Amino acid sequence: MDRAVFPRDKTCGDAVSFGALQALTAMGVYPAQLEALCVERAAFAGLKLGAPNGAVNAARHTLRGYCVPRLVFDNLLHERAVSAGCEPLQAHVKELAALESAYDWVIDARGTHGGTPTAIAMRSYWDVPTAALDPGEGSDLQIYFERYLGAGYGWIFPVNEVDGITRFNVGVGIWLRDYDAAAANVSTLMQRFSEVNRRARALSGHAVAKERPRGFHLAGAQRGTRVAAGKQLRVGDAANLVDPISGEGIQNALISGMLVADVINSSVSAADVPGNWQRLYEDHYADHLRAGIRYNGLLRFNVVKNLLIWAMNRSERVSERVNAGIFDLVRYNDLGSSLVRSLRASRRA
Ligand SMILES: Cc1cc2nc3c(=O)[nH]c(=O)nc-3n(C[C@H](O)[C@H](O)[C@H](O)COP(=O)(O)OP(=O)(O)OC[C@H]3O[C@@H](n4cnc5c(N)ncnc54)[C@H](O)[C@@H]3O)c2cc1C
Repeated sequence: MDRAVFPRDKTCGDAVSFGALQALTAMGVYPAQLEALCVERAAFAGLKLGAPNGAVNAARHTLRGYCVPRLVFDNLLHERAVSAGCEPLQAHVKELAALESAYDWVIDARGTHGGTPTAIAMRSYWDVPTAALDPGEGSDLQIYFERYLGAGYGWIFPVNEVDGITRFNVGVGIWLRDYDAAAANVSTLMQRFSEVNRRARALSGHAVAKERPRGFHLAGAQRGTRVAAGKQLRVGDAANLVDPISGEGIQNALISGMLVADVINSSVSAADVPGNWQRLYEDHYADHLRAGIRYNGLLRFNVVKNLLIWAMNRSERVSERVNAGIFDLVRYNDLGSSLVRSLRASRRA
């Protein structure tokens, strides 16, 4: 049930990570299918992480991931759901409780409309002649921590290349706690990023077309989230499952959707379902997200971000660990000890 008619757009950075691809595979949507069906998509092969002092760490990795405009990506999922037997209904749900008498379960997947917004972000599409790009820019994710964005960041993600023109998804995201202190609206922050960041400024100067920027809220992880109440079970942004560091939300939206279905199917009795979903959510996410929230607090300090990128540039192991954290291959609650081990090992080496 969705208020929108598909295909519909969703304001996003469009990065579909390795973890999200794994979840898609479990749903019967394979990377090859994604490549065949999504003409508009760029495979990414590296991450450039920039510090507020201008230093940049560039890491290559072999993990597959794509930038796919949500207009295309979400429609692929919608079609997959319909082909699996779902009956799409177009309806604007005002009161979840009103659905309870008609359905066994009401799974709240209304995105930030169901959750609590904790961040705001804005993105635009820029078309830039490929000849003007830096090496690797057509296949790297670029993330820049900027002084004026607190623990948030600006991004430049490649989306596709057609006839010598590369399309980028360019944006900024800021946590609401930092936004209140920034004393500038998100459009101004976006403008600042395109004027002040070295790569954004260069690409902006070469751009032959730019779409009007669009902003939207994110529902990041919070302490004490309740994901079940009676017949209502929350998933994705409605369950505040956006990663508290990277802002990635597609992966957790997909996985939580699968997990909640498992809980419904495998609970011994219907009365157990809400408690089982809350418990599974806590087992699967709570420690990881809580640690992520703590790191998010540290990332507000420019000195921490500068030090982090410095350490990544000094040690490949540290760079590999931080990348693993960003791509959700290490749980945040294990990242601290894993980073310390990497630092010790690189000092011994
Ligand atoms: C600018 C920006 C950049 C981002 N970049 C990334 C990124 O690069 N990678 C990433 O992984 N995540 C990113 N995110 C986060 C990501 O977009 C979300 O986490 C993800 O879309 C959550 O999926 P969802 O299914 O929970 O909600 P949504 O994708 O928001 O879907 C919610 C659906 O519910 C429908 N709906 C809402 N209210 C109602 C209602 N009352 N009745 C009926 N239907 C309703 C909507 O029409 C929509 O189709 C970004 C977010 C923003 C704002």
